[in-house]
Amino acid sequence: MAKRDYYEVLGIDRNVDEKELKRAYRKLAMKYHPDKNPGDKEAEEKFKEINEAYEVLSDSEKKARYDQFGHAGVDGQAGFGAGGFGGFDDIFSDIFDMFGGGFSSSRRRNGPKKGADLRYELNITFEEAAFGAKKEVNIKRHENCKKCGGTGAKEGTSKKTCSNCNGTGEVRYAQRTPLGQFVNVKPCDACGGEGHIIESPCESCNGTGKELKNKTIQIKIPEGVDNGSVISLRGEGEPGEKGGPSGDLYIILRVKPHELFKREGNDIICEVPITFTQAALGDELIIPTLDGKVKYKIPEGTQSGTVFRLRGKGIPNMRGYGRGDHYVKIIVEVPKKLNSKQKEILVKFSEVMDEDIHEQRKTFFDKVKEIFK
Ligand SMILES: [Zn+2]
Ligand SMILES: [Zn+2]
Repeated sequence: MAKRDYYEVLGIDRNVDEKELKRAYRKLAMKYHPDKNPGDKEAEEKFKEINEAYEVLSDSEKKARYDQFGHAGVDGQAGFGAGGFGGFDDIFSDIFDMFGGGFSSSRRRNGPKKGADLRYELNITFEEAAFGAKKEVNIKRHENCKKCGGTGAKEGTSKKTCSNCNGTGEVRYAQRTPLGQFVNVKPCDACGGEGHIIESPCESCNGTGKELKNKTIQIKIPEGVDNGSVISLRGEGEPGEKGGPSGDLYIILRVKPHELFKREGNDIICEVPITFTQAALGDELIIPTLDGKVKYKIPEGTQSGTVFRLRGKGIPNMRGYGRGDHYVKIIVEVPKKLNSKQKEILVKFSEVMDEDIHEQRKTFFDKVKEIFK
């Protein structure tokens, strides 16, 4: 089944602010929450759909990708698989709060957690964006400590189950309120919600079980990418907690501007200055393109601002549908400094010109005469 548009799912406009988004989400989440609709499969599906939409649209990075690429930009990254709750936790604590602590989110709080996502901005050249490239990036990320194998406990020792919470990482206590008795759950103070205590921490990682490592990652940049394009590498982010999956690595591409070419979509625009003798007499120009130099004949009387097109010499389409075009815009350059000899020749030239030579100018001044007669 085709996925519905996330904005449609939440019944909101594309440019709503954070507050409105949250309001729309809460309203729907309350309505379709499984606790309010026990055994209702349809409500459950709706609830999932709402949460998925909210997870994407409330995350500026994911939202940007969704706006640009649609579902394809965020699919498989929403993290709704087994154990992969990620940002979902916050949503649950939100709902938890609004229902006054009415249902337990503790099971999730101590469960597996997806690792944090990493971002890396990579500078590439105009040509690399056009034709793709192989790159290496060096990132710093955490990995399991080699010395303790990620447990955080010193060699030869191990973690001890917390006696305060019996390893659950949470303590429960009953609370009387005007609405009745509630069982509240909070993280165990003794172990910080971990469920275990490290008595002698590993010296290499100070008991964290993680160490910061430099990592070189190979990246294949596809052809046709543009400034701001994102390459996502699943599982190359920070490691997960308690058996959760690793986060993702997002490579954000920054394309350096080209000295001669401007890009518009997959087309290239290049302004080429010529002299007025070239413009008047015509000439064969050497035009720079992504594929190297190309010869192009301009006819006699080429006007400044004339644009001609070199088909298929633009940027390759990202999905392999051919290439854009290369547009050449002719700019007739009027010399700013002339020596006396050059001036003399030009004066002589103007003496032998008759009025009809400059057609546009003639038409213009004929009209002026008519208006002011
Ligand atoms: Zn260690
Ligand atoms: Zn504890």
